[in-house]
Amino acid sequence: MNEVIFQERAKQIHRKGDAPFELACNKESLAGAVSQRACVFCGSRVVLYPIADAVHLVHGPIGCAAYTWDIRGALSSGPELHRLSFSTDLQERDVIFGGEKKLTQALHELIDRHHPNAAFVYSTCIVGIIGDDLEGICKKASQEKGIPVIPVMSEGFKGNKRAGYNAACKAMFRLVGTGDTTEISPHSINILGDFNLAGEIWIIREYFERMGIEVVANITGDGRVGDIARAHGAALNVVQCSGATMDLAKMMKEDYDIPFVRVSYFGIEDMAEALYKVAHFFKDDSEILHRAQQIVREELSTLYPQLQKYRQDLQGKKAAIYVGGAFKAFSLVKAFRLLGMEVVMVGSQTGTSEDYRELHEVTDEGTIIVDDSNPLELSAFLKEKDVDIFVGGVKERPIAYKLGLGFCDHNHERKEALEGFVGMLNFAKEVHATVMSPVWRFVPRREIRQ
Ligand code: SF4
Repeated sequence: MNEVIFQERAKQIHRKGDAPFELACNKESLAGAVSQRACVFCGSRVVLYPIADAVHLVHGPIGCAAYTWDIRGALSSGPELHRLSFSTDLQERDVIFGGEKKLTQALHELIDRHHPNAAFVYSTCIVGIIGDDLEGICKKASQEKGIPVIPVMSEGFKGNKRAGYNAACKAMFRLVGTGDTTEISPHSINILGDFNLAGEIWIIREYFERMGIEVVANITGDGRVGDIARAHGAALNVVQCSGATMDLAKMMKEDYDIPFVRVSYFGIEDMAEALYKVAHFFKDDSEILHRAQQIVREELSTLYPQLQKYRQDLQGKKAAIYVGGAFKAFSLVKAFRLLGMEVVMVGSQTGTSEDYRELHEVTDEGTIIVDDSNPLELSAFLKEKDVDIFVGGVKERPIAYKLGLGFCDHNHERKEALEGFVGMLNFAKEVHATVMSPVWRFVPRREIRQ
């Protein structure tokens, strides 16, 4: 095991029970360790891209634009401009003489052709190096075209994915406060940190609406520029995915005095707790809490019996988790426990010390907790713990399949809703189908073990 762990990374790995809990995190990835993290630009793009009525223009070489809508298939109930990829396709000449002219032309062409409600212009590594005046160009284009044209300062080299989340939040914050907030209900929220994969934000919105709460802005799944502009009129920010949008919630707290609560919509416990947290915030109206209790009761009465049959088969099976933001990991640990399974490894790309302390509390003795891991380490952990299913994203999938073990996509590419009460049932079905598949009897890893 030790031969695959670089000495410099040892402090980012902890085995629960071996020593008092301490985990280094939130630091630059170690050169040569092949981190699973994407760049700053990718971080900002995955947060902003679901805003469906905006143009998203990548100012940089065409290779950066490879991060398309496909990497986070956020659904929209209306416009689908976000599904188109635009790039200024900077070439050698532009790098030498500057890309400002090209950017101005691209902005004019795109705005005239697509009539978006805003344009986001993403800065990439090379733009940071040649020093194009993104701020000035966006300002001029905004004045000329009469829509917000917002620079996203997301040069790939200036940090890790978390810095991208921060750049995205700063960009959105420029929109907040520019819309009309009259007629917004005192019982209103913004949903932050849900990206409407497989229509998940629609499930969550429906719960809140059944409780009698107005949702002002989806930030950013199925998002609209106009809604974000009036988001400062909401009474509460409800923040999922703490890494991606927490900075925006903090900015709104500071400038508009809007409080926020942290939630997760994955798993029964966390979903119910999310509804109760919001209901308690609006305690001036006891009907809201009453309706929340009713929703939970109704949903659980149909869900529990169905979960039991999966639980019987899955009892004692082992799971490993490696996700982008740590918030998902807490819920996943609880969801696996509900299915009778044991989580033996859990980690994230961008967790904070607060996140990892929370993870340490919810996991069992012997669990490996890891920050900013890499394929070599992950493979070693999976083999050592002999897991039955690995939960992760697109970069973890090949690791699982090469090792001959089941995989569950819990990231941007999934097409199945996993949030909400119905999402827990979908999750149980998927885990069951994967873990219990007879195919694993024939893969080399199982043959060796038997
Ligand atoms: S690291 Fe730089 S060059 Fe690479 S995709 Fe990110 S922004 Fe583009």
